[in-house]
Amino acid sequence: MNDETLESAQELAAVLQDVRRHLLWQEETGGRALLVDAQVAAELRQQQRAASSMRAMLPRAKPAESAPARAMAPAEPPRATPSAPPPAEPPRAAPPASSSPRAPARPPPSAGMLVDVPQQPARAAASLPGVVEGERPTLDQIRRELGDCKRCKLCSGRKNIVFGSGNPRAELVFVGEGPGENEDLQGVPFVGAAGELLTKMIEAMGFRRDDVYICNVVKCRPPGNRNPEPEEIAACEPFLRSQLLALQPKVIVALGKFAAQTLLRDSTPITRMRGTWRMYEGVQLMPTFHPAYLLRNAAEKRKAWEDLQQVMKLFGKLPGSRA
Ligand code: SF4
Repeated sequence: MNDETLESAQELAAVLQDVRRHLLWQEETGGRALLVDAQVAAELRQQQRAASSMRAMLPRAKPAESAPARAMAPAEPPRATPSAPPPAEPPRAAPPASSSPRAPARPPPSAGMLVDVPQQPARAAASLPGVVEGERPTLDQIRRELGDCKRCKLCSGRKNIVFGSGNPRAELVFVGEGPGENEDLQGVPFVGAAGELLTKMIEAMGFRRDDVYICNVVKCRPPGNRNPEPEEIAACEPFLRSQLLALQPKVIVALGKFAAQTLLRDSTPITRMRGTWRMYEGVQLMPTFHPAYLLRNAAEKRKAWEDLQQVMKLFGKLPGSRA
């Protein structure tokens, strides 16, 4: 083999190595759509075959010869920009966009850990309400942007917008469906019977209600506590996404099917989704039953408790412990 052929073969092997590394990173960050592009896959297979046959003809490459690989290596996944940190903690990163490569601790391996490729991709962070490109929003900014919202017909029957409440630096966020009668009257989420149960659940997990943040998919009460309609969810959901971007929690607990299905863009029934770790924008998400459902189906409380215990484990908490 002449020098030119040897050099080409080495370059091809290096490129293949980089492509593999990049695809692995894509898969880890949920970008599996890239792997199913038939043309790309065919090209990769062809490159792989060519590289294999070249490699078989090559003498063992010396370490110094891998320099071209470094030169052609893909850029590192973009790093999130640091944002205002709590004093006692290292700065928490702000995910720049929906494909944020923020790297939380891995959840326990389980089916469905990777988010399914959404049929309708989430909006880029910069296009979310109250979000300025490249900046981590605050909850106040988002609330101001929401204003006296009339973006959907739920505005007509509401007494109060129920934006959300709790610790703006919470590591644990609970997302429910929408306000009920009591919540609408008080402008605070989860204050009725379901709210009492949620508070008990939070305390049983070893947190105080003030430690966590609680919000809903829709901020205005659906009349008669009916389910929110798709266009109402579509109008209000961007504000929820902005809130989560502002909060940057360690864990989200999605209470009930509307929260889980909306955040995950996944129509799997909550009975099948619950109890399995998922990822939302780089944040670990645990789907479980809504407290209102648990009030009607007490036998399911045990399953919900099992789900919450998984969350507790992640925070290093034991049943009965306090924050
Ligand atoms: S539910 Fe959301 S989008 Fe609809 S009016 Fe209320 S705040 Fe606005």
